[in-house]
Amino acid sequence: MASPGNIGYMNSLYLNRLSPEARQSLIDRLHSMQSGNCFICERPIDLKLHANSFDIDHVEPLKLGGKDGEENFALAHSTCNRSKQATDLRVARVLARFEMIRERCAQDDRGPNLADILRAYGGAKYELMFGIVGHNIRLTLDAMGDPEIQSLPLYTDPLSKLQYFFSVLPIEYLHHDDRINPRNLGGSLAPLVEEFHLGRPQLHAALAWIDRSQGPGLVKVFDGQHKVSAQLLLGVRSLPVRVFIDPDPELLLTTNTRAGTTLRQVAFDRSVQRRLGRSLFTDRLERYRLEKGLPDDDESMSERDLVNFFRGESREVKRYAVDAVRAAITHNSLNKLTPYIEFGGRSTEKPLSYSTVEKTFFSFFIYTDVLDTPLNYRADEGLNPRQLEIDQVVRLMNFVAEIILVDQFDTELGTARLENKVQKNEDIPEPHLRAFRMCKEEVLYSWLIYIRQIVQGHFTYSGQPFDQNRSFQYKFPEQLWRQLHSYLVHLRDFPLWVNRDLSSTVFGGKQSSEFWRIIFESGKTPEGQQVLSGSINLMTMIEDADSV
Ligand SMILES: [Zn+2]
Repeated sequence: MASPGNIGYMNSLYLNRLSPEARQSLIDRLHSMQSGNCFICERPIDLKLHANSFDIDHVEPLKLGGKDGEENFALAHSTCNRSKQATDLRVARVLARFEMIRERCAQDDRGPNLADILRAYGGAKYELMFGIVGHNIRLTLDAMGDPEIQSLPLYTDPLSKLQYFFSVLPIEYLHHDDRINPRNLGGSLAPLVEEFHLGRPQLHAALAWIDRSQGPGLVKVFDGQHKVSAQLLLGVRSLPVRVFIDPDPELLLTTNTRAGTTLRQVAFDRSVQRRLGRSLFTDRLERYRLEKGLPDDDESMSERDLVNFFRGESREVKRYAVDAVRAAITHNSLNKLTPYIEFGGRSTEKPLSYSTVEKTFFSFFIYTDVLDTPLNYRADEGLNPRQLEIDQVVRLMNFVAEIILVDQFDTELGTARLENKVQKNEDIPEPHLRAFRMCKEEVLYSWLIYIRQIVQGHFTYSGQPFDQNRSFQYKFPEQLWRQLHSYLVHLRDFPLWVNRDLSSTVFGGKQSSEFWRIIFESGKTPEGQQVLSGSINLMTMIEDADSV
């Protein structure tokens, strides 16, 4: 048997010159030095079981100045080594750790943020004990076993007038502020980790804040979480921070929102903007109560009152009010569609992007003007318009999830090149193919818009006065829900969703929603190809409900 450990793909004069015995003994030495674990993923390498599936590789690549000698070799699983995200194995290991954190977060269907990294590395444990004396801040890191009192100069920022100090704080004292910075870390940490690893100076200092009124307080990092995370992953245990004292948190919230929108310094997901908008709406509401001397739970004001009160920013407040509705729908624990929505841009795992949800469900079913009724209007009767809107859009989304997606769409199979796979006769299960096709943005747009027509039809015939722009703010009777359910079941059962012959034509590439409107109205594509037995009939489709 050839000696174990793959080196064939790698250029090493040193290894090629070793006798089989010398190579085996090198492998044994490395294996014991690495405590038997893969250098990258840190899980065990079994020299027998993995005999043909581990690599010997340079830790620091030759082309980056690494030496071709024993001190620069390591063992790694071949799968880890060949899918590594950096050529330097030390960076690859750090990124593999980040990947593990990401996978743990994915089980909760979310992306990792600084709080997760801090937790994984033993940070975010303590409050900072501090006090202000004259132009100095005095603090102690007693919880770390260092009772010494540090005295640091206090500065005042000439523009914002905020007081702040600089310090290098142990990570045990740093916390992530996920309200002011609700973004995830995203997938782009690798280049930053690599730069830090190579010792290239960055804007290392993060921005944080602390609230003096509470005495000891949490140092909350609100800006710079990518750089802090990269340094944590590389094993840094103390980090430079600029800490603002007693800033108005609402000011920081606005600042961060503008960084992601107006200034476009960072790419904000739409969904993150919506969540920030919801927080800002809550803040405006609290400020309104404070300035009017109203109790904390007073809801007698309307959205319109708030817009009028904050005159200088009425456009923004109006948007915050609607953002609050959007965020309440997508971040609703009862929403079964949420797991199928990719919140961070495009994805090849999930069938819907957040942007698709905005262009379809939200643009069809959410009322985007402010309401003149009190926030708690008819809440006692369960008829509060905004609450009905949220609950009923969630219920509709649950129908869509249950009828089309749950146990049918397979995130392992995902969406990547799916029609290509169909054309190559790969084994794509019908429910998966159907879910994928029905959720394509232009297709979803075209069949979801008829829900509006069904709802309008119902209210029109009921004789109830009705504003079609806010239809989801009226309580739907169960009969209407049964009709919507039937519509979706009938629609799902159309044979075209699983017709593999349509893969390169109707489902090849992106069509317009106009293309699909013509199909639903005539049964044919604009080019005349018959794909449905005829025009769809909404009256028939809402009948004959199987049980809800
Ligand atoms: Zn490994």
